[in-house]
Amino acid sequence: MLTANDPNRKSWLNVPLDSDFPIQNIPFGVFIPYEDDATTIGTRIGNTAIDLSALHQYGYLDGLKLPEDVFLQDTLNDFITLGRPTWRAMRNRIAELFDEKNNELRQSEEHCKHILYGLHEVQMLMPVFIQDYTDFYSSREHAENVGTMFRGKENALMPNWLHLPVGYHGRSSSIVISGEPLHRPKGQRKPKDADAPVFGPSQQMDFELEMAFITTDGKALGERIEVQEAEDYIFGMVLFNDWSARDIQAWEYVPLGPFLGKNFGSSISAWVVTLDALEPFRTYSPEQKPAPLDYLKSEGKKTFDIELEVLIKPEGQEESKVCHSNFKYLYWNISQQLAHHTVNGCNVNAGDMMASGTISGPTEDSYGSMLELSWRGSKPVALKGSGSRTFIEDMDTVIMRGHCKKEGIRIGFGEVSAQVLPAL
Ligand code: MN
Repeated sequence: MLTANDPNRKSWLNVPLDSDFPIQNIPFGVFIPYEDDATTIGTRIGNTAIDLSALHQYGYLDGLKLPEDVFLQDTLNDFITLGRPTWRAMRNRIAELFDEKNNELRQSEEHCKHILYGLHEVQMLMPVFIQDYTDFYSSREHAENVGTMFRGKENALMPNWLHLPVGYHGRSSSIVISGEPLHRPKGQRKPKDADAPVFGPSQQMDFELEMAFITTDGKALGERIEVQEAEDYIFGMVLFNDWSARDIQAWEYVPLGPFLGKNFGSSISAWVVTLDALEPFRTYSPEQKPAPLDYLKSEGKKTFDIELEVLIKPEGQEESKVCHSNFKYLYWNISQQLAHHTVNGCNVNAGDMMASGTISGPTEDSYGSMLELSWRGSKPVALKGSGSRTFIEDMDTVIMRGHCKKEGIRIGFGEVSAQVLPAL
């Protein structure tokens, strides 16, 4: 039972109007209080960070029979390994404790002092140790836009695209948490009409609006996760900015795919929102024609209605919204992605991250990258106030936000934000 999702529940903690984090969300993250040196796993209600290791030490989670140090960790990996029934029981118990009708914790000023922090009193850290990172390419609109630009309209979609969720193995070492700036990468690019490549800072720094899911331990090497059971192996999701250097990418990607144009950095949001919290926002994916092979057949509402937006904030200027998209536009859903990933016997582990691919929608203002929004640099995108962009410039901050909303309940992801610094 997902009692944590009760839409009528209210918390004794303050939740600002239109917060992404009402008591029905209960995401998981990792933080360190500025006045303390102990990293802890936590959750969040409104703008209050809740120290779960302290909550556990004071005995408020005794009924759940959790391993002693499961929250005194630098990452969520051990907690994720405990599996879906435990994640569920945790969210239900937290909802109960912070319900306005519950005084267990509320009445103890001493305990509250050690468990509750203002968000400004803590630093968020990477929520998981990412063992492996995979990036899919699951938005038909994005694949068609990019294909049209690089190969022409007739060959926009490769022959395999409608038959399998295309993906590649990325690099996990350079995935960083929201707020960490990154440097513009240097590399090889071949200017149009030049005979030979040149080396230097990328001239086409771009973002990719994506979301990523995090898995728990899968099956033994050689065994597959079936599409119908895939969600049991998915802990939750984050916002994901898959930074891309388009000029480096265009020169290097044949024949083995993305490499240095992608692996210099990706940014994620700090709080992992569980699939359970997203349950009320389930919806259908686009119709799949031709029907996929049996191992990819997926029925029912297997995706989520998540509103997404991208904003660019030049230094000293206000932010401008450049894109408004939705997670539900994806052609291949997360169950299909995980089923396909493991169909050959490839194993997955707790903390693996699988990103969706750029999430573009049907309209020109819903494209999830500057590559598409500026149509490879040919149509500058106007910013509020003054200026325009074809790609991202030094000192620009790119911000992505996402939330679901239905019948007065809003569940969100907060944001992933990062500033681009000049090349080193
Ligand atoms: Mn990508």
